[in-house]
Amino acid sequence: MKSDDKGYKVDKEDKELTALLAEMKEYGEANHVPIINSQGLRVLTEAVAQKKPRRVLEIGTAIGYSTLYIAANSAGDVEIVTLELSDERADEAEDFIGRSRFAGQIDIIRGDAGENILRQSGSFDLVFIDAAKGQYPDYFRKVYPLLAEDGVVIADNVLFRGYVRGSGPVPRRFRTIVKRLREYIGMVTENDEFRTEIHEDGDGLAVSWRYR
Ligand code: SAM
Repeated sequence: MKSDDKGYKVDKEDKELTALLAEMKEYGEANHVPIINSQGLRVLTEAVAQKKPRRVLEIGTAIGYSTLYIAANSAGDVEIVTLELSDERADEAEDFIGRSRFAGQIDIIRGDAGENILRQSGSFDLVFIDAAKGQYPDYFRKVYPLLAEDGVVIADNVLFRGYVRGSGPVPRRFRTIVKRLREYIGMVTENDEFRTEIHEDGDGLAVSWRYR
């Protein structure tokens, strides 16, 4: 594995996957699907490659773009459960993921993530939170009992357009999201079971390593 010119990890020999991911990125941009940007992807894939998880929970599948990057950087036998509310997005993700070699290792679960997290059992080595921003504290509370003792939780968009750490006014329509993201950052940074890094790349990612 090596970094390409955009910084995220792809295996240059893996031409089929590279072509599929490029197609997904183009599709996402053309159809206004909010998929992770290249700076965020670099932080995500580095954490995944460091952890090499065997069981992953992703909250917010969209078309399965980050899902396939997680799969490609995980242990070879990784199992990924990914949660998506929109049937349209889940259909697209099924199509794209079905064309990859990871199809048999990824389970897309449709419906509200807040409800579907509670239906999961066993433990997860890595959780990627990337769905409703106002629900991050709730997702973390629900995910915590499912997280392996040495697991890692990664959350995208935690700095949300610069509003979360900024001192300027927050537009009314974003106030709840910003309040909840501040709450999320407080939860993970003040919890002494976790060592949390806040990356300013992209829209901000919190990477929280559990170490006891
Ligand atoms: N992780 C994807 C990627 O980077 O390729 C992007 C995910 S996109 C930012 C957020 C997704 O979360 C959307 O597809 C949206 O439909 C989904 N979502 C929003 N609210 C949700 C909920 N309550 N339960 C499950 N999924 C939800």
